[in-house]
Amino acid sequence: MVIQNLTLQGFRNYESFDCAFDSGVNLIVGQNAQGKTNLLEAICYLSRGAAFRTRKEAELIRFGAEFAELSARVDSYGREQTLRAVLFASRRPRQLYLSGVKKSTREDLDGVLHTVLFCPEDLMVLKKGAAERRKLLDDALCQLRPKYAKALEEYKRLLAQKSAALRDRIERPGMLELIPDYNERMAQTGAIIVTTRAKYLRQLAERAAAHHAAFSGGSETLTLQYQTVSTVTDPTAPVKAVYEQLKEHQQSHSRAELESMQCLSGPHKDDFEAALNELPMKAFASQGQTRTAAISLKLAERDLFEADTGELPVLLLDDVLSELDPGRQDFVLNRIRSGQVFITCCEQDKVTDIGKTIRIEQGRLL
Ligand code: ATP
Ligand code: MG
Repeated sequence: MVIQNLTLQGFRNYESFDCAFDSGVNLIVGQNAQGKTNLLEAICYLSRGAAFRTRKEAELIRFGAEFAELSARVDSYGREQTLRAVLFASRRPRQLYLSGVKKSTREDLDGVLHTVLFCPEDLMVLKKGAAERRKLLDDALCQLRPKYAKALEEYKRLLAQKSAALRDRIERPGMLELIPDYNERMAQTGAIIVTTRAKYLRQLAERAAAHHAAFSGGSETLTLQYQTVSTVTDPTAPVKAVYEQLKEHQQSHSRAELESMQCLSGPHKDDFEAALNELPMKAFASQGQTRTAAISLKLAERDLFEADTGELPVLLLDDVLSELDPGRQDFVLNRIRSGQVFITCCEQDKVTDIGKTIRIEQGRLL
């Protein structure tokens, strides 16, 4: 996938902007608060129909402007298409167009321009709690595997119902009769979730380790280890076997669930552990190492999307160069040779020998 050009009017701090891009690396350079991240946000908006820094569309419209208009010409699955979005200050909803045809929902734009974004908040994936890591797996898998998305949605609904039954068991004891049925369906959908996550993580780990090794000059080995319900001996085993083991765990925890009035059994607590040279990253990784691994994960996610769909997503890297030593900076700037990449940075002296440098000052292209 390649974004040929981007045109903006009244978006964030851009009054008007028009720029053609390189099909390889595009380095967006400028001082703080000039509009570098805003450019990535515009690309993301056209890709997903939603902004990544805000839920409030009005914030995307330039102060004092009536509307914001974004449009891009992209090469996608062998076709040239135009994506366009118009947001209004005084009325809703925003309008989306694909090659001139008006679309009613953002799902209609799905898959036209696929992007993988790294922003500084993504470092939390490796530092914070399990929920962030589960989200990373779920977001990728929901896009790639419709069956997984369906199973996950059903599992979440069952979990909410079972949790409510356990929580209110004193006021409404009749609800407890539904628990065997919830358990049965949670084991069925749970087994799909566990086996799909395990297989995806195994592939992700392999690709991320290769990127991380190249990135760190061969000095660091990244490993990712899936952690799920304790009775599951092999999460990549056939769904039926995992289902049996999930049932077993439910049975052994049924008393504890009643006592704690909480749902304790199932893959909603899944996690994966990331380690560098066998040391858990959460406790021991340095800033640069954390950043290196987080970017390697994004590169791996991009590879797997390509393996599945045949198209390499556009990579958007916001503020990745800080905290990296010259060798690792060189990796980002010059050695991600596949597909189209956008990199924002503040330093004027950074150069890439395989693409284009775009200088931004106060929402204008220099
Ligand atoms: P840094 O290097 O610090 O990350 P940046 O170049 O990425 O900076 P952006 O986040 O792209 O900076 O741009 C921020 C600027 O855009 C801010 O100064 C902000 O006030 C301005 N801005 C954001 N939204 C709007 C808007 N709706 N109208 C006008 N200006 C806006
Ligand atoms: Mg920024």
